[in-house]
Amino acid sequence: MSHHRSPGGHERSAALEEAVDRANTRTVSSHRLPPPPSALRGRIVVAAVAVGAFAAAGAGQIGQAATDDSSDVQLANHADGAATFNGVGGDTAPAPQILAVSKTTAEGSAEAAKLLRSQQLTTEREAVEAEKKRPKFVRPAAGDFTSGYGGRWGTMHLGIDIAGPIGTPILSAADGKVIEAGPASGFGLWVRVEHADGTVTVYGHVDTFNVREGQVVKAGEQIARMGNRGFSTGPHLHFEVWNPGGQKINPLTWLNARGVTV
Ligand SMILES: [Zn+2]
Repeated sequence: MSHHRSPGGHERSAALEEAVDRANTRTVSSHRLPPPPSALRGRIVVAAVAVGAFAAAGAGQIGQAATDDSSDVQLANHADGAATFNGVGGDTAPAPQILAVSKTTAEGSAEAAKLLRSQQLTTEREAVEAEKKRPKFVRPAAGDFTSGYGGRWGTMHLGIDIAGPIGTPILSAADGKVIEAGPASGFGLWVRVEHADGTVTVYGHVDTFNVREGQVVKAGEQIARMGNRGFSTGPHLHFEVWNPGGQKINPLTWLNARGVTV
């Protein structure tokens, strides 16, 4: 569009001046501003790209686009960014999706871990309850109480005797650790168990034993079977209790004091 004022100027009519001014205004304006329809379309595209990319990414990075203004240069940048985020090209394309999958997997793992922990706590709680309920002291064998602690036939009998068939299970009277399982003079075979306070329980004349030295046992756990070995006049368990000082005390008194009757 070519236009200029003539140097004289005065010979022009007012109408012509006005027409020229209008033309100038339009021309200048067309250089300064983008056509309104194009700018509007640009904003719509930017908004669509921003929303699409935001949804695909599931993250805040591209959301920045939605707050940018919509000049043509920035629109071009957004378009490139959108192509990248939509996976048309570029190394960063899969990143948002991997991020989303990882997040989901992590949440699933967290849920699974939470559930597992809950189950573990339940199991631990049940174990604690079972531990509370289980007897801490037991009768070391079923059978007939045939002889007590004290004087007998002119000698001291330093244990109690419980008679029963050979093979009758013999149980540890309390929690403890086996300190000896094997032959012993007069006892044939014996098992000795040491308890937390240093008390030792002794199980004599056993036919067989099923524990070894150092083994940890619970109250009521079978450690041997009743026999007739050693100095014995019939199948029975000879049971002794040695206090922490090593003295052989009355097993019946010791058991009774712990809620066990024989
Ligand atoms: Zn005895």
